[in-house]
Amino acid sequence: KLYNQVQDLKGSIRVYCRVRPFLPGQSSFSSTIGNMEDDTIAISTASRHGKSLKSFTFNKVFGPSASQEEVFSDMQPLIRSVLDGFNVCIFAYGQTGSGKTHTMSGPRDLTEKSQGVNYRALEIRSSSQKGLSVPDASLVPVSSTLDVIDVMKVGHKNRAVGSTALNDRSSRSHSCLTVHVQGRDLTSGAVLRGCMHLVDLAGSERVDKSEVTGDRLKEAQHINRSLSALGDVIASLAHKNPHVPYRNSKLTQLLQDSLGGQAKTLMFVHISPEADAVGETISTLKFAERVA
Ligand code: ADP
Ligand code: MG
Repeated sequence: KLYNQVQDLKGSIRVYCRVRPFLPGQSSFSSTIGNMEDDTIAISTASRHGKSLKSFTFNKVFGPSASQEEVFSDMQPLIRSVLDGFNVCIFAYGQTGSGKTHTMSGPRDLTEKSQGVNYRALEIRSSSQKGLSVPDASLVPVSSTLDVIDVMKVGHKNRAVGSTALNDRSSRSHSCLTVHVQGRDLTSGAVLRGCMHLVDLAGSERVDKSEVTGDRLKEAQHINRSLSALGDVIASLAHKNPHVPYRNSKLTQLLQDSLGGQAKTLMFVHISPEADAVGETISTLKFAERVA
């Protein structure tokens, strides 16, 4: 309760950043990440004028050694507020390979320890039958975490797969797990309804027109448009603009009820540490800075 009050005073949008570690088998370990203290992250960039450091400050910065449990326990109060009747949206943003799916779901060879937010978030009792407006989306009543895991497995299978230069099974689609929670306040008897969207966004990397053509190019441009529309909506909310441009993308239209108003939003940006990712890293951090 206290947490919610404090957050309400601070506004309902928060921005986190996670830096993934270097991966086993990588040939180069040249890092672009400097200091990570006081939730500020310093990025070193090299240009013909020499090296310079750019700093970005967020509500929370997780370094490469942060565990899944550490990350989740920080997010837990936000997730719990669904049970108090708040709507919550959590977005994982970042270039392909930066660790979005790792945070939200976990690695491919999932163990209990490596489970991501989606698995840890769902101590839920019942689900309400609300309408969904996504074609082919299904509303599945669940009563336990195990049920949710089954639903997610189906979702992962259905996720658009196609080969891009980055050859990722899921970089070209947004994946959204929505949980409706209905509960009763035991003191007042009032019915509380909350809803939580856990969104693993499509990769934010800009398209290289030389590598993709035709439908692939259109699709990539579409993804970039929907991500920038999401950025516009969150930035408008963060700056308390009277007009919030929800209608500029399907994604923001679908999530309209859970963005703004009493809803709580967490934009969780992910960055890769490698020096050759620095361009995308900077643009991810700028996106994050804009919505903060
Ligand atoms: P994205 O979903 O952003 O494309 P992934 O989550 O698939 O990226 O991460 C790319 C690779 O890096 C995967 O092999 C993943 O398991 C690994 N990885 C990402 N974040 C971490 C982390 N914090 N700790 C260990 N491995 C990670
Ligand atoms: Mg992914």
